[in-house]
Formats: sequence, structure tokens, C-alpha cells
Amino acid sequence: MARDYYGILGVEKSASDAEIKKAYRKLARKYHPDVNPGDDEAAEKFREASLAQEVLLDPQKRQVVDMGGDPMEDRAAQGGGGFGGFGGGGLGDLFAEFFGGGAASRGPRSRVQPGDDALLRTTITLEEAYSGVKQQVKVDTAVLCDRCEGTGSESKAKPVTCDHCGGMGQVQEVQRSMLGNMMTTRDCPKCYGFGEVVTDPCGHCGGDGRVRKRRDITVTIPAGIGDGMRIRMASQGEVGHGGGPAGDLYVEVHTEPHPVFERNADDLHLTVRVPMVDAALGASCTVEQLDGEELTLDIAPGTQPGESITLQGKGMPRLRTDGFGNLHAHVDVVIPTDLDKKTREALEKVRAAGHSGTEVHHAGDNQGESLFSRFRDKFRR
Ligand SMILES: [Zn+2]
Ligand SMILES: [Zn+2]
Repeated sequence: MARDYYGILGVEKSASDAEIKKAYRKLARKYHPDVNPGDDEAAEKFREASLAQEVLLDPQKRQVVDMGGDPMEDRAAQGGGGFGGFGGGGLGDLFAEFFGGGAASRGPRSRVQPGDDALLRTTITLEEAYSGVKQQVKVDTAVLCDRCEGTGSESKAKPVTCDHCGGMGQVQEVQRSMLGNMMTTRDCPKCYGFGEVVTDPCGHCGGDGRVRKRRDITVTIPAGIGDGMRIRMASQGEVGHGGGPAGDLYVEVHTEPHPVFERNADDLHLTVRVPMVDAALGASCTVEQLDGEELTLDIAPGTQPGESITLQGKGMPRLRTDGFGNLHAHVDVVIPTDLDKKTREALEKVRAAGHSGTEVHHAGDNQGESLFSRFRDKFRR
């Protein structure tokens, strides 16, 4: 039970230091042991008055009193437990801090808090990443309550000082533990640490000053955006408690896999399946680029499996700079598996003409690198 230090001195809670000293001097003159020799009751009153003056003239201790605590109770308990040497509540505060109770000197939080950032994920096609797109997205965040305009009050009145914590936002509690009594500080349960309360909470937001709302916003996604990149939209995030300024909204953009193209940085890759004969004799095919342009891929006569054809500047647009990446068509040579009679005869003629001779590949052979090293290089990439 906290002692009533104001009551002991007979002063108001708002008393100035001068008034406290004056009240103490009056009591001291009355109860001083020199004036009342042998009077135990007077001696106790004198001791109490001295203690009350000491507490109320110390701003930190007075703060504890104003929060409903007793700064001296702590010290008394510690004295008994053998920690007295640390003096004025030092160890108690230390333990309270250590166990997450928070420092006694921490004041109330502002009722108006800046809002948090929000994150939203959206998916676009590779075509959209190529051209850029304006996308409508649904975002669910706290927004300003329009009924109270963020004040949290039905009448839009200013909040008043919390009478439970005296505006400190925290209350102190003494907890019994193995080490003796410990002072812990926690958020005031009435004002949730804000030190002030709204007396007529808004019927729409319950005094929070904000409500959750789902809304549509338009995100401008730039051409060339990479998979997983985030677009920051200033002040489109969560509105803060008490109608505090909104945080930012981040839109994380993911690209759907494309049936033809694979993207690597600003370059596009695709695979073309070239029949053996076309690889040998040369051929051409067309591919529709992401913007709809028909591109011609020329397969040179004698194209080998794994070779690629590069079209400069036909890749993705470079984000925030001019120009485009390249497009790479990788050649996959297709060998026929079930030959009809005519084709077989034709191929037999090709073989007879001297285009045959299966052999082992020798390292250093200038007929190109081994398949294994090609495989290994691909793996390393
Ligand atoms: Zn409201
Ligand atoms: Zn409070």
C-alpha cells in the first residue's frame, strides 16, 4: 500500500516545492523530538514528515507517487533483502528494466502515432512487365475515421488527462519475488499508455481515430520492372492511432511464368526446336515478341544443338534507363524417331554420300567442346 505523502504533509497534489517545504517546516516544529522528548508517536510523525518532504522534493520519486506507487517501499524491501547498499531504489529500477518493466522515467506515448507501412503483393504477366501497366489493386488498411476526423471523439473534443495514471501513461506495481519486492512499470490499463483518454469515444472507430477499409488504388507499374521489386506509394499505408499520418504502401510485383520466354535480368530466352534437316540445311521461323512484333529467327545451315541466336535489343526494356536487353533463341535439334519408308531411304542416301562416321570425341579436338564440359558450364551459370 502506497503511503499518502501529500496527505502526510497536508498539501495539494499540485503543491509547489516551496509549499511542500513550508508544510514540512510547520510539522517539524510541532513534532521534532527535541520539542517532544520521549514521545514515540511524535517521533514517528516527524520521521514520516521528513520522508514525505524527501520524496516530494525529488522529481523522480514524486513522479512515482503521482503514478500511484511508493518509491520508498521499494527501498525498505531491498534493505531487508540485503540490497540496501545500492540506495534509493536503484536496484529495483534496474531489475524492473531488466525484466522488461521499462524505465520509470519513460513518459506517456503520444496518442497520435505515425502509421505502419503496408505491403501488398500483386502479379502481372511478362507482357505487362514489358510494356508497363496501370493496375487496380484492392488494399485493406486503416484509414482516417471520417465520422470523428481522426480525433476519436464523438464531439471532436480534445482528449483529457487520464485520471488513473495522472497522465504518465504508466503505472508502477510492486511485485513480490525471490529477490524481495520489485517495482515494475507497465502501461496504464485505462489509457493504454497514452496518458490521455477520449471521454466520448466515436461510435464508428471506438476512439481509435481510424477504421479498416478496403479500397481500390491504381498502381503504376513501370516497363521493365523486375520480379519481386517493390513500388513505394507514399502515405498509402496504415493510418496511425489517433489519426496519425499514414505509413507508406509497398506493392511487391511478381511476374507470372510465360509459356515461351524466360527472363534473366533484361534478357529474354526461348528455346526453338529445330528438326535435324532444318539445322543442317538452314531454315527460319517466327516468334511473337512480348509487344506483338513478329520476329524472324534465322537458323543458319549447319546450326549445332545448343547454339543460340541473339537478336540485339529485342529483350526487356531497361528499367529507369533507355534501351533494351537482348533476346536469345536456344536451338534444340530434334532427331526424328519413327522414320517412314521414304524418309529412311532419303537419309540412307545422305549416309551413302559420306555424311556418317560415329567416333569418340577427343579433348583438344577443335570440333568444339565436349558435351560434358558444356553441361558443366551450363550448371555453373
Ligand atoms: Zn471515429
Ligand atoms: Zn492512464
